[in-house]
Amino acid sequence: MQFYSTNDPNHKADLATAIFRGLPADNGLYMPERLDPLPDSFFKELPYMSFAELGFQVTKHLLGDDVPEDDLKALVYDAVNFPAPVIKLDDQRHVLELFHGPSLAFKDFGARFMSRLMGHFNKGNDKELVILVATSGDTGGAVAAGFYKTPGIEVVILYPKGKVSLLQEKQLTTLGHNIHALEVDGTFDDCQAIVKKAFLDQELRKEIRLSSANSINISRLIPQSFYYFEAYKQLGAEGDPVAFCIPSGNFGNLTAGLLAQRMGLPVGHFIAATNQNDVVPEFLKTGTYTPRPSVATISNAMDVGAPSNFARMLNLYGHVNGLNPLSPTTHAGMKELITGYAYDDAATEQAVKEVEDKFGYVIDPHGAVGYLALTEWQETHPATRGVILETAHPSKFKPDVERILGRKIEVPERLAEMEHREKVATPMGTAYEPVKEWLRAKYL
Ligand SMILES: *Cc1c(COP(=O)(O)O)cnc(C)c1O
Repeated sequence: MQFYSTNDPNHKADLATAIFRGLPADNGLYMPERLDPLPDSFFKELPYMSFAELGFQVTKHLLGDDVPEDDLKALVYDAVNFPAPVIKLDDQRHVLELFHGPSLAFKDFGARFMSRLMGHFNKGNDKELVILVATSGDTGGAVAAGFYKTPGIEVVILYPKGKVSLLQEKQLTTLGHNIHALEVDGTFDDCQAIVKKAFLDQELRKEIRLSSANSINISRLIPQSFYYFEAYKQLGAEGDPVAFCIPSGNFGNLTAGLLAQRMGLPVGHFIAATNQNDVVPEFLKTGTYTPRPSVATISNAMDVGAPSNFARMLNLYGHVNGLNPLSPTTHAGMKELITGYAYDDAATEQAVKEVEDKFGYVIDPHGAVGYLALTEWQETHPATRGVILETAHPSKFKPDVERILGRKIEVPERLAEMEHREKVATPMGTAYEPVKEWLRAKYL
């Protein structure tokens, strides 16, 4: 499979280049050259396939023989070694729990798949590979867990000081070994800007083998498409379109859903749910895209003011160069399949309460934003069954969830034991140069 840049369809790269470079030199994002529907035989077999097996079949379909089949199968089965159960709230509303991995968020799928794919292509290299990643909360924890002690690979995580939860911070600052944290006195967008600068810095890239692990890396999106098929399978939908509601920040999850749909999954509709950082819902309503600085909310993993995967979404609807001007047909095409809703913290808190009261289910603030959006959409589409992607375990946002519910909630063992570990992080400002110097001092 070849990958092209969202800025230039003629700029092509193979799989290894796309995953190690992260970003094409023209500052676009890599996209798979072809997205063919899976054969009918796949959908016939789907009800009988395990989650890992369907993941393997989807990957093989997408990547062809870029990775030898036996290696690919082992890699996917190793990455997808925990379930994604669909929980029924009522006849029309379901929750797809994506938090059964090591860091208790959906990003484990992407991180585990990417680390194993990079490990596969990195074999035989004697210079270390440095993964540089910006996180608004959960990416860092998933990447840290996914790459922990991977031979030949170092991980440097930039996170916004004071803007991630205590447990999120522990996940990225307490592992040690090949995992390093930089605590940036700024926002997630500042962290992301530093990472982007590093990748565009040709001088630095000559000295250090850099790679990304954000949702900008195409290898993260591939396994995120698996669970759309898995939810469809568990619902026994068999051709009956399902609506997926995706609590979104950088829109990697939603983009992965679009990939699944292009590979033939019968999706009735996508619902893009955001907190007050609502540039995409606003675009879907008005046709105007206005990125702006993010504002802090209780669903902090979605506090993104300039979503990185938006360029991919536009590209899937025929848009090529940069972000403006946007053609009306791109907007119209997207609007037909995707509807956006945004909610403030007060509404989100109310929804966390409501889901507990009505269904006895503890939902996290991100999932709660999804619950609100699906419920609103179904007011006008009552016949379509919906699945909310529950992107993280509620205990990752324990202080807020306990305050909202007025009681203690259960913390899974793998998270609870982190609470007592010691944080190790290097403080940084929002400027690029000091980060560059830190990298050079460490890796040259
Ligand atoms: C990362 C994250 C999101 C946002 O996902 P995107 O793919 O960036 O849209 C939502 N919820 C949680 C809990 C997350 O960690």
